[in-house]
Order: sequence, then C-alpha cells, then structure tokens
Amino acid sequence: MKGNVILVGAGPGDPGLLTQKGRQALEQAQVVVFDRLVSPAILALIPPRAEAIDVGKESSHHLVPQDQINRILLEKALEGKRVVRLKGGDPFLFGRGGEELELLEEHGVPFQVVPGVTSALSVPAYAGIPVTHRDFCSSLHIITGHAKAGSELHIDFDALRRTGGTLVFLMGVSSLPNICKGLLDAGMEPSMPAAVVERGTLPGQRKVVATLAELPEKAQEARIKSPAIIVVGKVCGLSDRFDWFDSLPLKGREVVVTRPTDRSGTLSERLRQLGASVTDYPCIRTVARDPSPELDQAIRELDRYRWLVFTSPVGPGIFFDRLRAAGKDARALAGVKLAAIGPKTAAALEVHGLAADLVPEVYDSDNLARAMAGVEGPVLLCRASQGSRALPEIFEKNRIPFVDVPCYDTVYENPDPAPVRALLERPVLVTFTSASTVRGFVESLPGADLSRVLGCCIGPQTAAEAKKYGMTVVTAKEATMESLMECIKEV
Ligand code: SAH
Repeated sequence: MKGNVILVGAGPGDPGLLTQKGRQALEQAQVVVFDRLVSPAILALIPPRAEAIDVGKESSHHLVPQDQINRILLEKALEGKRVVRLKGGDPFLFGRGGEELELLEEHGVPFQVVPGVTSALSVPAYAGIPVTHRDFCSSLHIITGHAKAGSELHIDFDALRRTGGTLVFLMGVSSLPNICKGLLDAGMEPSMPAAVVERGTLPGQRKVVATLAELPEKAQEARIKSPAIIVVGKVCGLSDRFDWFDSLPLKGREVVVTRPTDRSGTLSERLRQLGASVTDYPCIRTVARDPSPELDQAIRELDRYRWLVFTSPVGPGIFFDRLRAAGKDARALAGVKLAAIGPKTAAALEVHGLAADLVPEVYDSDNLARAMAGVEGPVLLCRASQGSRALPEIFEKNRIPFVDVPCYDTVYENPDPAPVRALLERPVLVTFTSASTVRGFVESLPGADLSRVLGCCIGPQTAAEAKKYGMTVVTAKEATMESLMECIKEV
C-alpha cells in the first residue's frame, strides 16, 4: 500500500498562523519531516507517536542535502505512511516544494499541497508595513537575496527600480549591503524608506527602519541576523504608525507557564496573543487514586452526607468515575448539597448535570472554609491527598463532622529544566496556579537561584508558597485566569 505526502506550509513562526488544514494534516501524520524555520510551538503539535525527522538546513551548509530529503519523503510514502513535509512560510515560495514533488510524481506517490502564510507578506504585516498601498505603489516583487557561495547576486536592479513597486527580499541578510548598493546604483533615491525585520511574527521580532542609504549600517549596528526579510519602498514609511505588534502589552516579556500537564494551555495562548514569549513548563500532574478504598467506602455511604465538597476541577471527574464503577449515577447525590471552590470546578459538575449549591466569592480554600463554617454536617471532602488545612480546621473548630477523602495525588513531572534554567539568568515572570505548581517548579530546578523570579500567583496560598522559596510575588485579585492575566499585564 502506498502512503501519501502532504506538503504543508507552517507559516512564519507565530503558531496562530498555521492554517487549519495544515494543523489537521499534522495531527494525522505518521511521519513529519521538518525544517529549521518551523517554530517550536508548531513542532509541539506533532503527535507523540509520529516519527519526527529534522532535516533543518543552515544557509551555507545543508544539514541534509536536498536529494536526500526527496528520497526520505519517497521511502516513507512507499512504506505506506502518511507523511507531512512541514516547511517554513509557504512551501512553494523559495521553499523547494516543487523539487520535492518531482520524485514523488515520478513514482506515482499521491501528494497534496497545503499553502502556508508566507513570511514575505506576514512579516511586513507584523512590522506595520502594508506591502501595497494605493498612495504609494501598484506592484509587489518578491526576490531572493541569496547568492551562491563565492558568486555575485543575479538581480536586475534596473528592472526592479523601474517597477516603482514594493520590493521584498528573502534570504538577504548577508547580501544586504550589496542589495542596497545595487538599488542605489540603479538610480533609486537614497531617501527611499526601507526596513529589515528579524524573526518576524515571533516574540523576539526586531525591526530596523531607515532610508535605503542608511539601512546596511543601521542593520549592522543592531546586529540583525537571519532569518530576516528586507523591504524597500515607500510603504515602509508607515511602519511606525502601524506598529501594532511591537506595541502589544507583553511584547518581548519572557513568561514561564507552570501548570498541570492535563490542563489545556489557554493561559499560554492568551499570553502569546499579548506578545509574550511563553515557555510551557508543565511541572505537576494529578493522578486519580486507584484503588481508592476511602472513596469507595464514602460512595457506599453517600446517604449519610449532607455536603460534598470539590476543591479542584479534576475532583468531579474522578468522583463520578468511581461512582459509575460502583453501579451508581448522579441520582445517588439527590440528598447531598454540592460545594465547589470556583467556577471551573462548578463547571466540571455541570458536565454531570449538577449545579453547585455553594461557590465562595473568592475562589480559594480559606474563603471556601469560611463560607462553610455554618453548614450542617457530615461533610465529605473529595480532594487532593495533600490538601490545604483550612477546611479541616474550620470544621473541627465548628464541630462539624467531616471525612477528608484523598481522591488524587499531585505528582511532579520533572520536565526538561534546561530552557527555564537559561531564563533564570534574567528577571523572568512565572505563573503559578496552585501551591503544588510552585513546589513542582522548585523541585524540578534543584539548586537554582530563584531570586529573579517574579511569581504571578492565582491566590494568597500560592503566593505564600512562592515566597518561601525567595521569589518576588504578585497575586491576582480574584482566583481566576482572567484576573491572573490582568495581574500579569500590570507588572
Ligand atoms: N518559504 C518561506 C521562505 C523560505 S526562504 C516563506 O514562504 O516564508 C527563508 C527566508 O525566509 C529567510 O532567509 C528569511 O528571509 C525569510 N523568513 C522566513 N521566516 C521568517 C521570519 N519569521 N522572519 C523573517 N524572515 C523570515
């Protein structure tokens, strides 16, 4: 059986610019062959079971020669695999996409092409440069600035100047002085606006805007490196006015997002939308206790409880799994009131058709405990094995009978600490959504100096834990993701 190859354009770097079709192809791939310019956030979408082959090319020496890449694609497809060839930007724009299809076509291997968002258009857009504008130009030209080692650029600068259009050069950083000189020698005005944009659409994007005459020197001063694109044309004069990306509130900020592995990365996505450079660092995981004799016993005796309390969104799922295993369903809770620590936990109950009777105004265990000080027992606590003391203390003090059932354990994930260690050299923002994420973070970085960490904490207990390890902390006003986002924006 023959497999197939899908040539997918990954876009310029911002993971949000991968197309839906490209993402679907990636999720279904059995083999992914990718280039250097594909960003880590997109590589993270490769399914774990897929074989990932890095054929990343450096500009002067090819890690894997082109004919070998072509052969890898052919061989994997002939093995019957669904192969995705993932390339930066658009696969057909200076991407050798055509060359890679030739061998497949010769062997009758089915293939498809998913166009990508090319850097030639999107990088100027992120730098505030509309590539055409009726007031300034009526054409756009995309040119390679790559010169083969030791040879001259083969660019018809006269022809380019005569078009009066916007010029976009890819692969041109090392030829920048020659490109600018070529245009000036062809008679373009030295005052023509121009720009070079490095690592466009990524949190580390940098741009230099200058006149054509001054651009090479300014770019050298700023030490602009590849990948970067060069734009020449009057539209570059709009770059300061339309500078939306560099003006995002978190542009250039390094943020480490600690969270449980099983919780979706919406916080990371929202931070990226605000321009932050996000490192996902899942350092804890909740594991349901199995077997769980205490929970099974409580489920057998559900009738005797007046309240059932959940202190995390994972609690209801674990409880209902065991309830079903005991041959019961939600009707077994008919006489029991439900308390949830916050709206996410209440939403996890809604999934089972149940509305929480009590959610404290501030979503943490101190406030939940206070809100429950007058309830009638017995109370069943369904929570982590190392839960906070606030609830048991308040029940003891008020002589409310309760049973504290450990339903799940929090275990440390030990993610690869190298990227985070490197970030700790400078001030860095780290988000913590529970005291256990603080402990998981600290545990994964033995001996690290945490004094430059600014811990953005979801609530006071989390903040207290972070302070113990010498971090500076700020605390969200309310224990919600929205409030945590606000808090990060303000620091
Ligand atoms: N097929 C790709 C281009 C491949 S050639 C596309 O459609 O975008 C590689 C060149 O693309 C780099 O040398 C650089 O000029 C440009 N490039 C790609 N990604 C870029 C980025 N994020 N920022 C700036 N330039 C980029």
